[in-house]
Amino acid sequence: MVTGDGAFIKKINRSIILEKIMEHEQISRADLSKITGLNKATISVQVADLLEEELICETTPEHHTVGRRPIMLSINSNAAYVLGIDLDYQKIDFTLANLQGHPVLTHTEKFQTTNYEDIVSYLIKQIKKFQKQCDDTRFGMAGVVIGVHGTVNKDERIHFIPTYKWYDKDLRRDLQAKLNLDIRIENNANLSSFAENVYQYHTSKNLFNIILTSGIGAGIINDGEIQSGYHGYAGEMGHMIVAVDGRPCSCGNKGCWEQYASETSLIQHLSTVLDRSDLSRDDVLTLLAEEDTTTIEEVEKWIVYIAIGLNNVINLYNPETVVINSEILSSYHHSVNKLESHLHSSVSQYCKIVLSNLGDTACVMGACALGIQRLLDGPKVIFSVSEIENDTPAS
Ligand SMILES: [Zn+2]
Repeated sequence: MVTGDGAFIKKINRSIILEKIMEHEQISRADLSKITGLNKATISVQVADLLEEELICETTPEHHTVGRRPIMLSINSNAAYVLGIDLDYQKIDFTLANLQGHPVLTHTEKFQTTNYEDIVSYLIKQIKKFQKQCDDTRFGMAGVVIGVHGTVNKDERIHFIPTYKWYDKDLRRDLQAKLNLDIRIENNANLSSFAENVYQYHTSKNLFNIILTSGIGAGIINDGEIQSGYHGYAGEMGHMIVAVDGRPCSCGNKGCWEQYASETSLIQHLSTVLDRSDLSRDDVLTLLAEEDTTTIEEVEKWIVYIAIGLNNVINLYNPETVVINSEILSSYHHSVNKLESHLHSSVSQYCKIVLSNLGDTACVMGACALGIQRLLDGPKVIFSVSEIENDTPAS
């Protein structure tokens, strides 16, 4: 049985109120009371606390014609900022977001090195630059969340990043030694899945996100929470074996799903078939736009491989929403219908399969959203996607 004292109940009520303010963007005290079922006195006390902390602010709507204009409550977007970082191979994306989850500043850095110390030094320098830009705000830069393309354990230590060949690195400790900031390390697929839930599919209670880029990453969100398993490594679906004695994989096994269904595997296979050793993802997109027959044939075979793994995933998790993140799949006509035509099993149950609209920005957006949730101490965060207001690099 879950029990709680007054402070615990107060924290839950605060989370509910913040969640509803985020969901509605602007809401009056009276409507908050109606929607949450909390009495007006509780709303009044909690709102007064949040106003004093400057986490929310009062506004009056401009277009309100009948009677007195109501006082509305909204998140104080400029009270604090959070920095999301996508530490990808040879590329690092930075996005600074305000408290409403809107990106306000972005920067991308291309890299050749995989040296851990060099990248830590670079991250420290760049984080300080972003931090400086937030100096004049109530809470400044309140936190940093870094997505890494590898396994991260429950203590947020990096277990392994295959592309960097980094084993057992305590990136959070190494950054915090030089930065007086709250820093969190997460797996990129978990962050991408979180972003899909926060920015796109708010109402989905059970979301499964598959990212088909260099390998295959997957993240599971249940009722707004990232499900990362006992050690923190859940979602390594790319290493599910789909072919007996199949193509060798960097994990040491043969026949892993990502050797057949990732974008990299498609590009590699297509480069052999077309005899073009330098074939890139952009080239594949161009060939598809030109309706190249060979490319279409290979993409059709690739979709069958995606469906094989997806069938297994659906049977394991019975997901409500499956979000697939792949630019190639998104640019191919009716790809979801084609994928579903290969999912025949009467046992496989899911509600819908959709393609990601967040694409390559999913990880960094999820990082920002998770940082804001941490700052607000736990409410379910709900944001809308907006254009970047200021695309000025921080350098
Ligand atoms: Zn593998």
